[in-house]
Amino acid sequence: MKEFLVFLIGACFGSFANVVIYRLPRNKSIIKPGSYCPKCRRSIQWYDNIPILSYLILRGRCRHCKKTISPRYPIVELTMGILTLLLFEKFWTASLYCAFFFYFIFILGLIIISGIDYETFLVPDTIVLTLIPLGILGALVCKNLFISQEHSWPTLTRFLYSLSGALMGAAIVLFLMMIGKIIWKKEAMGGGDLKLLAAIGSFLGWKGVFLSIFFGSILGTIISLVLIYSKKKNWDDYVPFGPYLAIGAILVTLLKGSYLFSLYFIP
Ligand SMILES: [Zn+2]
Repeated sequence: MKEFLVFLIGACFGSFANVVIYRLPRNKSIIKPGSYCPKCRRSIQWYDNIPILSYLILRGRCRHCKKTISPRYPIVELTMGILTLLLFEKFWTASLYCAFFFYFIFILGLIIISGIDYETFLVPDTIVLTLIPLGILGALVCKNLFISQEHSWPTLTRFLYSLSGALMGAAIVLFLMMIGKIIWKKEAMGGGDLKLLAAIGSFLGWKGVFLSIFFGSILGTIISLVLIYSKKKNWDDYVPFGPYLAIGAILVTLLKGSYLFSLYFIP
């Protein structure tokens, strides 16, 4: 029962994330007006706005004009529900309330960034530039933001680990941008990826940056190959790297405090 409630709260935040993903790139207010159908402009009643369920009941179409609703809506709601539950089990049940709170905001931000990057190929500054100082703030105020074998780290260590992560994230992208310019004469990564990796680093530290890139690259390669071989994409199509980095970072968050390949300790 408790698990279901946590999932539901997470799915409602997923619903909020959907509103931001749609409205932020269009420069529309997040708060007003309430949800409406972009085609017939009719406002969506509460009973048609229940996370996941309404999409299934309406079979992915607007009740009035029958315009198809993007599957992104239930996918984001379901993902946020599941991730909130996983975070809850990992941090809240271990009494790490502060870490739960900050990583919940981190993951919500990553989901919004991924949705916008996927649809517009742009990483939204408003979200990513809020996450960078938030990660550093989390390191300062949360004794257990970084789970370590020893007791909690001293404040200065946490601060430096977070700061080094943000700087490392930015430095890696700058380096790759330079290499890309020299070798391929074009930019392999952009300023959006730079800010995103800085945000990931501020929450996960420098080890987290490397591991997020590692997981993100593997996943990105697999999915790109599948899309190319199923002829859904071409070799030279642009693929936004942001969502893969975000998935990598979410994996690292959920793996915190564990040994990976029995030699890499993730604080
Ligand atoms: Zn409609």
